[in-house]
Amino acid sequence: MLVQGYSDLEISTPDCMPGITIWTAGFKLDADVSSLFPYINADIKKSAYYAEHPCILFELEGVKWSLYPNKVSALPFEDKAQAEGFILHLIDYLNDLNERKHTIDPSYEVYKPIPVLDIFKCLPGTNCKKCEYSTCMAFAAALSKGEAMLDQCLEIKGFDISKETKLKEMLP
Ligand code: SF4
Repeated sequence: MLVQGYSDLEISTPDCMPGITIWTAGFKLDADVSSLFPYINADIKKSAYYAEHPCILFELEGVKWSLYPNKVSALPFEDKAQAEGFILHLIDYLNDLNERKHTIDPSYEVYKPIPVLDIFKCLPGTNCKKCEYSTCMAFAAALSKGEAMLDQCLEIKGFDISKETKLKEMLP
């Protein structure tokens, strides 16, 4: 098996939103999985592969994963126990992919970042900081670089359905 386990799990939620149910998890894998990135890129339709500083973003079982060589962040989770269950699913997926990678044509197509302004125009623009970024523009820049996920914007739901849909189509 490529990945045996994980460590240093931390889950967090915005301090400014008591009672919020979106939790983000960060943890380390005990193996470097960067060799799998082109296979994930080929295996999962809506993924975003960054080759320069190896990273891949993708959605699996409703969870958005940001995978670095041996570091992961993900959301959304309801609590720590749920996050732990999904992390085990992710590890199963990576090990299974590693077993069957000889059957997959790897994709080295890198993700082309969406212009920051195009993203910003679709955000609520309240600078409320609930995403843990100081402004909507800073959050848009992080989204463009693949360093944040749209679900971190807690104001987007019910703000403007057409803009929300546009963002979901634009972003990986
Ligand atoms: S949560 Fe959404 S509206 Fe609030 S600052 Fe972040 S991006 Fe802007």
